[in-house]
Formats: sequence, structure tokens, C-alpha cells
Amino acid sequence: MNIHEYQAKELLAKFGVPVPAGFAAMSVEEAVEASKKLPGPLYVVKAQIHAGGRGKGKFKELGPDAKGGVRLAKTEDEVRAAATDMLGNTLVTVQTGDAGKQVNRLYVTDGVDIAKEFYLAALVDRATGRVAFVVSTEGGMDIETVAHDTPEKIHTFDVDPATGFQPHHGRAVANALGLTGDLAKQAQSVAAKLYDTFLGTDASQIEINPLAVTDNNRLMVLDAKVGFDSNAMFRHKDLAELRDETEEDPMELEASKYDLAYIKLDGDIGCMVNGAGLAMATMDIIKLNGMFPANFLDVGGGASKEKVTAAFKIILGDPNVKGILVNIFGGIMRCDIIAEGIVAAAKEVNLQVPLVVRLEGTNVEQGKAILSNSGLAIVPANDLGDAAQKIVAEVKKAA
Ligand code: GDP
Ligand code: MG
Repeated sequence: MNIHEYQAKELLAKFGVPVPAGFAAMSVEEAVEASKKLPGPLYVVKAQIHAGGRGKGKFKELGPDAKGGVRLAKTEDEVRAAATDMLGNTLVTVQTGDAGKQVNRLYVTDGVDIAKEFYLAALVDRATGRVAFVVSTEGGMDIETVAHDTPEKIHTFDVDPATGFQPHHGRAVANALGLTGDLAKQAQSVAAKLYDTFLGTDASQIEINPLAVTDNNRLMVLDAKVGFDSNAMFRHKDLAELRDETEEDPMELEASKYDLAYIKLDGDIGCMVNGAGLAMATMDIIKLNGMFPANFLDVGGGASKEKVTAAFKIILGDPNVKGILVNIFGGIMRCDIIAEGIVAAAKEVNLQVPLVVRLEGTNVEQGKAILSNSGLAIVPANDLGDAAQKIVAEVKKAA
């Protein structure tokens, strides 16, 4: 689960990390009001979307010469103009894809004079199973570019959970940033608090870019991207409330309501499978047969008829889907339940694309009978390979 920059900064501030003062705004008037509460003389008006690269981004509605989603303003009128340009318009950045994201919220912050921009992130390193720090003097720009062009400028280390964050970790951050004296002390403090925030919130990543040195030698977090481990959200009710559903893929959002693990992909063949491993194998075998999966969808072990119907509708909600492959191994989930769900959903949505179903396991004969007696043009398959070949052939035939 991801949150907005302003929420991330409020959270970091609670853990004692230095951030500039700022206020979220949902309207132009609120943005202007926010700036009046700040000391000035410099303000920053920032588009709040769940994507980075806003500064260099472009608004679809404003043309190529207009400024991006992070603007410096010196007067009330400039704040008003920036807010008017951004709210309701679509910001396209390197991270949003061509469709861009509509800006519905702004963050108006105290503007600081920047002497230097650094990069500092904490994330879960899956190879070591530990929280790792990524540190670079090359902040403010795309870290992927830095990693590609000058990998020696990126320093990483991880923290042993048995000892937790130690002073030497803080010194490692300060050294990597080339800091000495008071700024080194500030870097050590920021790194320690970042680690506290990470553990305290069950974060999966906290990325600060830039971590700025101001003209009066203060370290400040100017941009923060925070994501949490969704599986831990049950123990952070306050954080769960920060979720902004308008930022999420509508189909993935719908799937989450039914507890379905759905990830939208770019191919043509919709997949409904039980078990993540079988779902991955199904996607692989579709590719092996020359087409691409439109989604990953794991309906889980004990799905109800309602859940299967919902899954079916979500798959068909994707206009790219030219055919559907259902691959279910009925262990806990009985094949007859799946079959009923498929028939009900196919009738309800007036299915127009080919459907291949491979059922195996508990009550498989009842399941197959329900499908063949349904009066629907469902193509039965005997095994995984057979199913993939059949759906690819059916889709090509229908094209
Ligand atoms: P991003 O483009 O989505 O990563 O948004 P950022 O919040 O990182 O802002 C992009 C850039 O705007 C930063 O790298 C800074 O160079 C600049 N910027 C952001 N806040 C300030 C500020 O308070 N003062 C100044 N002078 N520049 C800022
Ligand atoms: Mg940034």
C-alpha cells in the first residue's frame, strides 16, 4: 500500500525526521490559504499522485512548454496560478505511463534554498531478508539512471535485525554522503529515525529523494515515497486510513474487495486460477504457446460462487481480453462450485469471448457436467498443456 508525499512527510515528522512545514490542499482556495500559513518568501506547490518524476512531468492539458508538477512560487498569485494549472489536470511522468494521473490533491510547502541533493532509502532486501539502506550523493535525479551510469556512486548496506540500527550504520550513511561535522551528525540522526519509522510502520520502502542540504546547513527531507507491507496493515489501522483508492487500478481495487489476488498485465488471455504457483505456471504456458496473459488472478483456496463470479467479471472488465482460460485444481475448492460460478458469471455478463476450462480434483465429474449442460460454448480441456493450446487456437480462430 502506497501513500501520498504529504502523508509520508507527516509520518516521518512524527518520528522526528526534519521536513519542511506544509499543508495539503484539495482546491485552489485551500492552496492559497495554506501558503498564508507558511512563512515564505518561497513556497512549493506539489501535485500529489502516487508516482515520482513529477518535477519533470508534463500536464496533458497544458502543452509541452508548461511547467511540471512541482513548482516554486514567490507570491500568492503564483501559488494560485500553480494550483489552478495542476488541479483536475493529468500529469504524465516517467512513472505514470502514457495515460498519466489526474491531480486531485496538492501539497503546499515551505520552500527551501538547496545547496545539495542526496538520495537515501530504506527497503527490504529480499536476498538477505533484512532492511537495507541505499545511499547516494546523486540525489534529485532518477536513481535508476545513477545505478546504470555510475553504479559506484550508490552505496548499500543492511542492518542485522538482532542488533538493530547501530551508530556505525549512521556513520556509514554520513560517510557515503561525504559529510563531516554537524551535517554528519544530522545524517546519522536522520538515518536512525528512518529505521525507526521503517520498523514502526511495517514499511516496505521509504525513499527520500532528495534529502537536501539547505543553504544554512540543515538536512531536510524534500520528497518522500513510502510504501507499507499490505499484510501488516491489520495492525496499523491509522495507516490503513491513509489509503487513497482513487490512485489504485480500479480492477485491482475491485479484486481486493473480494480478497482476490489480481494483477493486471498487458496480454490478451484472461486467466482464472487457484493457487499462485499454478497461476504462474498457467501464465508461462500461455506464453509458451505464443500469446500473453492479460492478468494474474489467484482465486484462492476456499472461494465461494460469489467470489468466482466477481473474478470472472473483473477479468472481463479488461477490454484487452480476447479469451479466458480457467485452470482450477479442486482440492479445498470443489470443482462443482467453480463450475457453478463460471456458468452464472458467463450468463450474467453475456460472455462473448472463447472460454477454455480445465478442471481437476474434487467433484470434477459434477463440475464438468455442470459446464457441458449449461448450454454455453465452453471448451473443456484435460490438462494444462491442452488448455493453453486450446485457448490460443480459439482466440486465433475468433480473430
Ligand atoms: P519528484 O519530481 O516527483 O521527485 O518531486 P520532488 O519533490 O523530488 O521535486 C523535484 C525537484 O524539485 C527536487 O529534486 C528539487 O530540485 C525541487 N524542489 C522540491 N522542493 C524544493 C524546495 O523547497 N526548494 C527548491 N529550491 N527546490 C525544490
Ligand atoms: Mg523526488
